[in-house]
Amino acid sequence: MHPFPSSPPSSLYHLGFAAIESELRAAEVSAHHAKALWRALYFHDELEPASQFSPPLRRWLESAVGEGKRFFLDVPEVVAESNSSDLLTRKYLLRLRDGHCVETVLMGYDGRYTACVSTQVGCAMGCVFCATGQMGFVRHLRAGEIIAQVLHARRVLRATQPQRCLRNLVLMGMGEPLHNYAAVMQALEVIASVRGINIGPSKISISTVGVVPGILRMAAESRPYRLAVSLHGSTEDERAALVPAGKPWGLGELIEACRTYGRLTGRRIFIEWTLVAGCNDSLETAARLAELLRGIDVHINLIPLNPTSGFGGVPSTAGHAFQRVLRAAGFPCTFRQRRGIDVTAGCGQLQAAKRLAEVK
Ligand code: SF4
Repeated sequence: MHPFPSSPPSSLYHLGFAAIESELRAAEVSAHHAKALWRALYFHDELEPASQFSPPLRRWLESAVGEGKRFFLDVPEVVAESNSSDLLTRKYLLRLRDGHCVETVLMGYDGRYTACVSTQVGCAMGCVFCATGQMGFVRHLRAGEIIAQVLHARRVLRATQPQRCLRNLVLMGMGEPLHNYAAVMQALEVIASVRGINIGPSKISISTVGVVPGILRMAAESRPYRLAVSLHGSTEDERAALVPAGKPWGLGELIEACRTYGRLTGRRIFIEWTLVAGCNDSLETAARLAELLRGIDVHINLIPLNPTSGFGGVPSTAGHAFQRVLRAAGFPCTFRQRRGIDVTAGCGQLQAAKRLAEVK
């Protein structure tokens, strides 16, 4: 595991296992105490009672961890919470230490629980149907801030469904994960580690709007996570109308990157397609999409449009005909359930609703 860079004061979650070992060594505490600290952080999720630790580790914690000290425990404050009527989707607006807010969602499907976390404050990609995209980019999250969101979701699950485990993670909240590549990969090393939060790599999905260098880097580095690509258009114009940030990487380049990713990793790619009436839901578009993806191992997820106040697009009613064309061409193609729309669960919507309330 790579050590994380740390500049005091810093979240303890920013430190990888090796970095904790070297911090202890530097303080003349045996590095073998790192295991106990790691277990307290990521399995028990608490540093209390201090009596659980050996005296040398306790002394290090007292001297190095706490407000005004070198490290702090990053527990974001819940600013707003919204639950779906069936309580299976719980959405949180969490305040970071610098006052910015991000969204974290816990979703339950068929007894399986998934956390959806943010990777940036705002987003630079500007997808027109997305409330986060309408906010613009503010800053990248650090690795520890991503980890803190997963811990928050697991805390909620432990409190409400103690018999269930958090087994799945999607990086599909606010932000473009591959625009914040280094911090995302650092966080995932802790999240996927059996000694860390222990969510299996195959249960972790990274959703990108099509950042080609990030897709190729994931393939070259053999990152073991699932890749979901938001395509939304079968021609440059169709895609540019919905995903302005797709412009640096043309559609052809993106499809080639998907082909390379599939060839190098042998993994299936999930293609995300938000259906917007009259925009990208025609049978001709479906046929063009099938042609584009020919020869790549993909699963196509069709997503009903989430209404956002800043976009005038209308949800499509032609989804089933669209799906039939893709299935006839041999592609697995399913609809993503639009769970929790009653809790403004589309990414950025809770934050947007809060801003609206603040200016009213
Ligand atoms: S859909 Fe994702 S990539 Fe696009 S603007 Fe929203 S957060 Fe950014």
